[in-house]
Amino acid sequence: MDQQVDLLVIGAGAAGMSAALFAKLNGLNVLLCEKAAQAGGTSATSGGTIWAPGSHLSVKAGVPDDIEQARIFLRSVVGERGGEELREAFLASSADMIRELDEKTTVKLNACLAHPDYVKNQPGEAFGGRALAPAEFDGSILGADFKYVRPPRPEFMGLGGMMVNRNELNALLNPVQSIQNLMITLKVVLPYFFSRLRFNRGTRLVMGNALVGSLFYNLKKQHVPVWFNSPLQELIVEKGKVVGAKIQTEKGTEVIYARQGFVLATGGVGWNEQLRQQLFPKGLTSDSLSPLSNTGDGLSKAIQKGAKLDPSVDSSVLYFPCSIHMHANGYKAIWPHIILDRAKPGVIAVNENGKRFVNESDSYHDFCMAQIKSNRGKETIQSYLICDHTAIEKYGLGFILPGAKKLNYYLKANYLFSANTLEELAKKTGIDKQGLINTVQYFNQMVEQGVDTDFGKGTGVMNRFNGDPEVKPNPCLGKLEHGPYYALPVIPMDCASSGGLAGDIYGRVLDQNNQVISGLFACGNDLASIFKGTYPGPGTTLGPGMVFAWRIAQFAAGKLTEKFNHQPIQVTQQRRSA
Ligand SMILES: Cc1cc2nc3c(=O)[nH]c(=O)nc-3n(C[C@H](O)[C@H](O)[C@H](O)COP(=O)(O)OP(=O)(O)OC[C@H]3O[C@@H](n4cnc5c(N)ncnc54)[C@H](O)[C@@H]3O)c2cc1C
Repeated sequence: MDQQVDLLVIGAGAAGMSAALFAKLNGLNVLLCEKAAQAGGTSATSGGTIWAPGSHLSVKAGVPDDIEQARIFLRSVVGERGGEELREAFLASSADMIRELDEKTTVKLNACLAHPDYVKNQPGEAFGGRALAPAEFDGSILGADFKYVRPPRPEFMGLGGMMVNRNELNALLNPVQSIQNLMITLKVVLPYFFSRLRFNRGTRLVMGNALVGSLFYNLKKQHVPVWFNSPLQELIVEKGKVVGAKIQTEKGTEVIYARQGFVLATGGVGWNEQLRQQLFPKGLTSDSLSPLSNTGDGLSKAIQKGAKLDPSVDSSVLYFPCSIHMHANGYKAIWPHIILDRAKPGVIAVNENGKRFVNESDSYHDFCMAQIKSNRGKETIQSYLICDHTAIEKYGLGFILPGAKKLNYYLKANYLFSANTLEELAKKTGIDKQGLINTVQYFNQMVEQGVDTDFGKGTGVMNRFNGDPEVKPNPCLGKLEHGPYYALPVIPMDCASSGGLAGDIYGRVLDQNNQVISGLFACGNDLASIFKGTYPGPGTTLGPGMVFAWRIAQFAAGKLTEKFNHQPIQVTQQRRSA
């Protein structure tokens, strides 16, 4: 039977679920269709941080953020790469979206007291307040529906199903070091064992899993139907307007008509080989951190109907440097080197020539941009994190956690390489021997001066935030001098795509002539990044994803009244890309 709704949302990641929830809260009759058997997409496996300038939550937390400062910051970071109108729309709605979420739902976020913007030394950059983090969510209140929440990647859970956030990790690794550590450990571990009596994993959700768990819970509360195993097959266009969508369901193909339109939120490029070849640089692995159900459907189905693809100016990919551990059973465990190791003293990154190419404590995206540049023209883009035994013992490296537990296991699996001397390490890995020795010698000299004159490791608040505060004067610098030495191969991998469908300030998809395709919206990674391939701060994709979801819902409900007056930009300082 054909069905008619006000708004059909396709894809139940953070962007799609937000669009469906806001639409329902604003009086629309909504249907949400998800291809996979669970909701959450990449969002469920993410850190869940949301870059949302100027929210009331920042005031509540005592770290007030200011839209004007965020505007100045974005002007400096994104510069003249275009798309300013969409960024103005984002700035105009960011605080309203967060307020509506906070006041009308139980999706709870907190402004981070300390979570600095990623592009350092810029006017308007924030140290805290701008990035928001999901509050813990108790998944058990979903009851039997908890099974519909996609779990995080297995490698991010302890004890086979327990979530731990960054602040708790140290305590869990050293539970008997102090009373405080013991209390934190008990707070995390005890509920886990209780929840395992009823569920197949822990129900104390944090980070991205808390975000999608609570969004899903609120969709249920609002009686929004969510169809699982129901991928979009095709959009139906009549007289230039998208009027329907064919959805494949367990009962067969259903045609859904939607009076106000169709929202594509299928997670961007993901595993779509054709789009990866078109948009991503040569030498990138074909692996993705997206779930397998993200196959670029929103983009490809819209392109079939004349939509325009907007490759981002700097990069159509947003990256994490990742290391890969192949399990004996063939499972490829991936460790994204986000915050824990690169910035620490005594850790450097080199290319095959043994040369450093980057400030290791810069953002993961900027790290990879430099890595790609340093490997240009090569078949594969690979570099190595190098450290000595003191550093790996103290800070860990990838899957090797502080304390260097299970070191031999990872050495045997060829995840990590080790040797007593740098010469031997170079021989084992194929890194240029003299290059590596010279680099380490020179780096150690710079450490004595406390200044990385080559790349500036440890300059700026964001760099120092991820360093070791006990190390002075520069919390990111330390010598590599006590063997054995270690090398860990890292490659860039997409944590998100930033190239996507071209859209207008209401999230309406544009055609090749920059005209609106009536009835078709996109948000999340299906909509090209409003930051044009730059990575301004923590939450760069979820922030705009949720704000544009809100704008689409408001627009579809006829409630969007514009508050911003678009001004041409005055570029004060232009960021140079890595
Ligand atoms: C480890 C990790 C940590 C990250 N941390 C952060 C962070 O802290 N902050 C941040 O901003 N970003 C982060 N990112 C990036 C972020 O997770 C993604 O950019 C974001 O989740 C994309 O959201 P989305 O809603 O667009 O897509 P997704 O969350 O991927 O959801 C897309 C959904 O669409 C479904 N779908 C696909 N095709 C169809 C179809 N044909 N029909 C119906 N449904 C379909 C998929 O199954 C999926 O459920 C992180 C990424 C990773 C990998």
